[in-house]
Amino acid sequence: MRPAIRYPLSAIPCLLLLASAAQAQTARAPQHGVRPARLAIRNAMIIEGNGTPASGPYDILLEGNLIANVVALDPVALRGGTARRPAADAEIDATGKYVMPGLINIHGHVQEERGGLPQPLDYELKLWLASGVTTVRDVGSDTRKTIALREASAAGRVAAPRIVVYASFGGGGDGVDTRGIRTAEDARARVRTLKAMGADGIKIVGIDRDILEAMEDEAAKAGLPIAHHVGVEETTVWDDVKFGTRSIEHWYGVPDAALVGGVQGFPSGYNYNNEVDRFRWAGRLWREADPEKLGSVLQAMVDAKVAWNPTLVIYEASRDLQRAQGQPWFKDYLHPTLEEYFRPNPANHGSYFIGWSSTDEAYWKENYRIWMAALRDFARRGGIIGVGEDAGFIYQLYGFALIRELELQQEAGFHPIKVLQHVAMNNARILGMEGRIGRVRSGHLADLLVVNGNPLEDLKVLYPTGTETIRDGKAVHTGGVEWTIKDGIPYHGPTLLREVKEIVAAARTAKP
Ligand SMILES: [Zn+2]
Repeated sequence: MRPAIRYPLSAIPCLLLLASAAQAQTARAPQHGVRPARLAIRNAMIIEGNGTPASGPYDILLEGNLIANVVALDPVALRGGTARRPAADAEIDATGKYVMPGLINIHGHVQEERGGLPQPLDYELKLWLASGVTTVRDVGSDTRKTIALREASAAGRVAAPRIVVYASFGGGGDGVDTRGIRTAEDARARVRTLKAMGADGIKIVGIDRDILEAMEDEAAKAGLPIAHHVGVEETTVWDDVKFGTRSIEHWYGVPDAALVGGVQGFPSGYNYNNEVDRFRWAGRLWREADPEKLGSVLQAMVDAKVAWNPTLVIYEASRDLQRAQGQPWFKDYLHPTLEEYFRPNPANHGSYFIGWSSTDEAYWKENYRIWMAALRDFARRGGIIGVGEDAGFIYQLYGFALIRELELQQEAGFHPIKVLQHVAMNNARILGMEGRIGRVRSGHLADLLVVNGNPLEDLKVLYPTGTETIRDGKAVHTGGVEWTIKDGIPYHGPTLLREVKEIVAAARTAKP
């Protein structure tokens, strides 16, 4: 039996908003970076972002920064030229294209330098927009600067995604001395300071149990959610479950909570502060987790509504160094500052690839297999999986890394419809912004992508550099996000990418 076609409430035609097709055709294309009063996206296939299959065609009307109407097009009326379509000041023809929610990146770092060398902020912001990223949760940067960027972006003064600021609890260049956090009262005071600064949440890493308990309690009172980069430390996921963490960043604390003896079988010479040691032995952590105990850990996370943002992408160099080092977009889009930062050097975080062996990679490949199975198990139990990139470290480029993360979540066993739900509706939920972003739905903020191709067929079409396909026996270049619309402001993807290329070329020329 064929299911009935489901028309969303917003598809009920509103006569005031509709004009004939002939009138609609007079509208012009939108101008890059300028928000039209009324923008129509015509004839689009829609991926809503909530885990339902694609459907179309629709006309989508944006008014200011809102999705005003999503109009299902009747094929008979379309053919006869009598279809009622929304009038607009500007329009995008999305015939053969897919419209989906703007990508939400819940693990980004706003970076203006790497390893002490300057890197223009515009470079990162434009790469994000060109990759379809319309919201970034910044998890630990210079808090004051990032808050200023959040305000500038909200006011439309800068071409940038929406910024959600999770301030670094342990300090992050915001001028607050955190060497003083020794007691529960210090921790509470620090939370109040971050609240007063205007943070939206708090990012923690490397924290002891008594401090975690106090800071989570104070943060809950202040209404600040917590993202925990849970490393191999005193606290594990059991503590996050107990104290109310919003999201687990990365993964270490998950298998660490499922070790039978409570500690990994480290060799006697192991030094946690030596990154070669740390990343090498992290590659042997998942295999030590007891499967039964792991099941209870995952269930406890589900029950406590602790989301999991695995950032699979940021460890990919560990399982395949040459793949990570030889990414094709480095040729035109890798800024020399970042290139220098990625070079193996014990002084830079994540640049630990000195003597990285085939044995290390083999362990890491197994590590990924168990990790991906745990992610599937977590989702099956009802857990919320998010998507973040952590770019600017370990050969990962802003924006491109988020698309690669989508591919890796597909590799983990998730249907592309679910993967896109993770990056849209799930991420919105983790941010507490569901109902405003993360779906193509009337009344939501106008954060949308017009994609050249079908991401459900191939997630690679989302890479800003596009992809190759065969059509009529010929290889053709296709893909890419044609328009990234953030807060109703349309940004032309290829234009942004050209600008990034110019930034990189200029920086390379200037380099002595
Ligand atoms: Zn990070």
